[in-house]
Amino acid sequence: MNHRVPEAATGPAFPFLDLRAQFASIRDEVMAAVTRIMESQQFVLGEEVRALEEEIRPHVGCEFAIACASGSDALLLALMAIGVGPGDEVIVPPFTFVATAGAVARLGARPVFVDIDPATFNLDPRKLEPAITAKTRAVIPVHLFGLAADMDAIAALAARHGLAVIEDAAQAIGAVYNGRPAGSLGTIGCFSFYPTKNLGGAGDGGLLTTHDAALADKLRLLHVHGSRTRYQYELVGLNSRLDALQAAVLRVKLRHLQEWNQARRRAAAQYRALFAEHQLTNELALPLEPPACVHVYHQFTIRLRRRDGVQSHLQQCGVPTQIYYPHPLHLQPAFAYLGYHPGDMPQSEAAAREVLSLPMYPELSPDQQRRVVEAIAGFVRG
Ligand SMILES: *Cc1c(COP(=O)(O)O)cnc(C)c1O
Repeated sequence: MNHRVPEAATGPAFPFLDLRAQFASIRDEVMAAVTRIMESQQFVLGEEVRALEEEIRPHVGCEFAIACASGSDALLLALMAIGVGPGDEVIVPPFTFVATAGAVARLGARPVFVDIDPATFNLDPRKLEPAITAKTRAVIPVHLFGLAADMDAIAALAARHGLAVIEDAAQAIGAVYNGRPAGSLGTIGCFSFYPTKNLGGAGDGGLLTTHDAALADKLRLLHVHGSRTRYQYELVGLNSRLDALQAAVLRVKLRHLQEWNQARRRAAAQYRALFAEHQLTNELALPLEPPACVHVYHQFTIRLRRRDGVQSHLQQCGVPTQIYYPHPLHLQPAFAYLGYHPGDMPQSEAAAREVLSLPMYPELSPDQQRRVVEAIAGFVRG
């Protein structure tokens, strides 16, 4: 079938994510912060990182916030702090970024995959209990695309079985679940400041959050080689420090986080209105936002059959899209040793075939959104 490329839907290609538009809006603040660090020549940890940790606490709802070098390191450090190692099992969803399961495997523990709820793309608590064994130490729910996982159900099961809950909140800074922020809902919260995340630095960065003073102390030790006093090592840790330059840039951007997350939510509402206007809501599934949750739309991810056809049609119309994630982790070569097979995680496998993430960022314009939806309408109506 030859799909119509509607006149109005064509135009110059625009980016899937435009970080330059955001930088333009805060250029002077960022450049002043960068200059301040260069003048100080204090590049690692120090006052700037401490200030970021202090200022970010209200956003993550925790008494303790510890900056580290990346979201991947945050996951690794969280598992190290609760003592995960060889012989242990940690439950993770297969429909996520690789780091969620990679952190478990790197410590010699076994990632145990539990399938997702197709409506939310998050770990399905109904499938959690059968996966728990005597070796299970922790569960890592991922707040995928900016929507909190079903934490009440997960926390109740974890408590009953004595498991730690490590939140992978890399995509969910500012998200809320039953009035509480992502990152404050489990034993330890893990955030990423990768440049494309809702709060992104000028390079890699990450954050750990907890309510537990003893765990906070252990995380602080572990992220600087297990050392409290120079050249004395209490634990075997890693070098996972945040640079002062990153902290300085992140402090500027943190002041805008709420307004940017609100702009994402407005763009999401605009997508919903446009899909309704074009009577497309029966042709595809829009992101679910449960009433108890504030979604921060790190991605606006729809589901539809003929996904690959839609994506190439959109590309012809100059409309960029991405697939997060095209291959579930249980079928990746890196995890072949775990012995999973196609069909083992049917919901994650179906999601990988049907998801399509549309352009979503605070600076996205209503005209750009209209082009996205008109181009999808052009394909669906053929
Ligand atoms: C980005 C991301 C990570 C890893 O964060 P980095 O800072 O890139 O190491 C982990 N989990 C999820 C779900 C992510 O999206």
